[in-house]
Amino acid sequence: MKPALIIVDMVHEFVRGRLRSPQAEQIVPVIRRLIDVARSCKAPVIHVVDRHLPFDHELKLWGPHSLVGSPESRIVEELQPVEGEYVFGKRFYSGFRDTGLDNALRDLGVDTLVVTGIHTHICVLHTVGDAFYHGYNVYVVRDGVAAFSERDHEYALEYMKSVYGAKIVDSATAADVLCGRQ
Ligand code: ZN
Repeated sequence: MKPALIIVDMVHEFVRGRLRSPQAEQIVPVIRRLIDVARSCKAPVIHVVDRHLPFDHELKLWGPHSLVGSPESRIVEELQPVEGEYVFGKRFYSGFRDTGLDNALRDLGVDTLVVTGIHTHICVLHTVGDAFYHGYNVYVVRDGVAAFSERDHEYALEYMKSVYGAKIVDSATAADVLCGRQ
């Protein structure tokens, strides 16, 4: 098993901006710790983040957000990648759609994803859905993902578990997975 840590949309827009989750600040330190674990265990750290163009279809629904080059599209300071970590910009909910993420993961030999980020029921859910279709083992970190509401969060966790076969785990278990102890 070769795991990678996937961090979805931990940019200013969704953590501290207009489309933020009320729980976002609580998951920042959890993801921070998982980044440290991944680094110490040599698991790839991969961000997938909204970097929209102004005419993107999705903006009709949500309004302009996390536009490419904008301050809102910057990864929050606490979770900034270092050299050797990867950032894939996306224009759709899923981190796999038109980003090259799948090829990169295969080139890295990754077969297992530990997924964190925002929002549980939108970009996390769609990324996990595509991970399922691409054949990855998926762990979703219950205390490392957040949504607009607790209802959205819980519904999406249950959906990913029952429909995509994702294992819903706490961050302590996620750390074990990242270090090959699960
Ligand atoms: Zn978006």
